[in-house]
Amino acid sequence: MTHQDLTGKKALVTGGASGIGLATVTMLAERGAQVAINHLEGDPAGAEQVARLTKAGLNVISAPGNVAEPGTAEAMVEKTIAKMGGLDYLVNNAGISGTKDPIPPSNLDEITEELWQALLTTNLISVFRISKAAAGALKASGGAIVNTASTSGVGLQGSSTPYAATKSGVVSVTRSLARGLAPDVRVNAVAPGQVATPWTADWPQERKQMALDKSLIKRHVQPEDVAELITFLLTGAAMITGQTIVIDGGMTLS
Ligand code: NAD
Repeated sequence: MTHQDLTGKKALVTGGASGIGLATVTMLAERGAQVAINHLEGDPAGAEQVARLTKAGLNVISAPGNVAEPGTAEAMVEKTIAKMGGLDYLVNNAGISGTKDPIPPSNLDEITEELWQALLTTNLISVFRISKAAAGALKASGGAIVNTASTSGVGLQGSSTPYAATKSGVVSVTRSLARGLAPDVRVNAVAPGQVATPWTADWPQERKQMALDKSLIKRHVQPEDVAELITFLLTGAAMITGQTIVIDGGMTLS
């Protein structure tokens, strides 16, 4: 299949040095776009991935900065837009679970104020914060945004009550931003089920098997599967906005 040539397009992917973000960076850059990889300041994966992808002939740059921190996040966006000379595509993908093991909804005592605050600012408010900082450049280019939600944002349990709430929030903010930035900028979200990334790598085998058993397609969702959907929503999908697309191999249907 011939893919759309994205030469001349400029993209920013948050949490772009790992998993779904990295697969998206790679796909956009392989199609010719210049891609800024956002990563945490001290995360060695940022420089490693920029060096690896640059060596492979792709046009990527580093965009360090914590999306959870007001001020830092906006400065990262502004610097990146200035460096690239504009912005066509934004992927709000950085996220955390905030907990090593899932916290069952019945275990209210384990859900702390600190966990709520960390998840809210990292997974939810960051989506608005980054989009707000990028809105002017995206409007100027007639660009698009894709946010990474989760099946826990559309009804599944997820790793904790606050995690699921932040991802439901991403679904809601996606709709509001689509309204707010129309007609210039389309805004959509993807809602992955369990994806084979560093995020899930250490999960117990039985938790991974459970997802596989429930999958109708009978294989684990790969980061490249999600990247393909994100790329479609960014670069095609001319009449799709405000939507959240579930990508889980049919897991939520079974
Ligand atoms: P990952 O851990 O491989 O990648 C997430 C990246 O985000 C990491 O590089 C991390 O350092 C970065 N990050 C975290 N907090 C940040 C911050 N404050 N500022 C900048 N960068 C930050 O995980 P992944 O599976 O690729 O997850 C990507 C997104 O997909 C997340 O939003 C996650 O909630 C969502 N998601 C993942 C799954 C899954 O099963 N893997 C399922 C549903 C949704």
